Amino acid sequence: MKLTDLLRRPQPTLSFEVFPPKTDATFDSVLNATRAIAALRPDFMSVTYGAGGGTSRYTLEIVTTVEREFQVPTLAHLTCVSSTRETVKQRIAELKEAGVDNVMALRGDLPPELVGADRSGWDYRHAVDLVRELKEAGDFCIGGACYPEVHPESKNQKEDIAHLKEKVEAGCSFLTTQMFFDNNLLYNFLYKIREAGITVPVVAGIMPITHKSQLERAITLSGSFVPQRFKALVDRFGGSRAAMKQAGILYAADQIIDLLANGVKNIHVYSMNKPDVAAAIQSLLKDVLSAP
Ligand code: FAD
Repeated sequence: MKLTDLLRRPQPTLSFEVFPPKTDATFDSVLNATRAIAALRPDFMSVTYGAGGGTSRYTLEIVTTVEREFQVPTLAHLTCVSSTRETVKQRIAELKEAGVDNVMALRGDLPPELVGADRSGWDYRHAVDLVRELKEAGDFCIGGACYPEVHPESKNQKEDIAHLKEKVEAGCSFLTTQMFFDNNLLYNFLYKIREAGITVPVVAGIMPITHKSQLERAITLSGSFVPQRFKALVDRFGGSRAAMKQAGILYAADQIIDLLANGVKNIHVYSMNKPDVAAAIQSLLKDVLSAP
């Protein structure tokens, strides 16, 4: 199933994300977590791509397992910047052969020493290069990433949105946001991209923070702004695993309720291979998601 068919329906969607194992030894435990999340029957599940790593082939294996065993639609992530054209073409051929409908086209993170480097000899410079290649290769429903707080390498939001528009015009039919902890940042971003003529569905990415160190890692990675309200909660409950988990899940659920109340109806939870967190969010939002 093409995800845009789901995302354009009037009903809200709630989807979850899993990431493939970093080593072969943990594949079974990741697959078990994936099965437990798929058993919750989310509207779809995304599976990230371990850029350049030896376990990147697992994305496809996880995606096909979810579709085959649970009939839950999936979104396979694919990155390009640290791969050769030959490898990317091979991955795309494998996705096509396996009947994958939905692909998230990503550039991937650059190692710090390559951020300002001359890219003229690179096979892929930006995600848009991969979007074009996927578009040519088959009838994929292609998603792209977007950044309500501006991508850390962009000079400013205007430039970032201009590049985003190029990505959509090249063939992205929906976008998923980087995590954010203040919904007003998303509302401002949506206003600006709609004004710039970007009309595709935008899926709001929400990360439930269930322990203190996870917040530190998430901020380093994304540069997301942490509102005082959330900082206070981490200061007060960060020392207790159980309390932080409960507070983090409730904060994420509260963010989602506010999004749904304000017309943002496609919600993606960065569930980080944690079936208990995915189940708790789903259960807290059951009636809200099915409200007439
Ligand atoms: P791009 O769209 O290429 O944008 C990156 C930067 O380049 C931006 O500053 C943009 O403004 C600029 N840019 C874009 N086009 C041009 C152009 N033509 N000229 C000049 N500048 C341009 N990483 C993984 O390794 N695996 C994953 O599975 C994964 N999943 C993700 C899912 C989501 C929803 C998000 C938000 C991120 C994900 N990432 C993943 C991280 C992502 O790879 C990084 O954020 C990366 O730094 C940028 O990827 P992008 O696809 O947004 O790149």
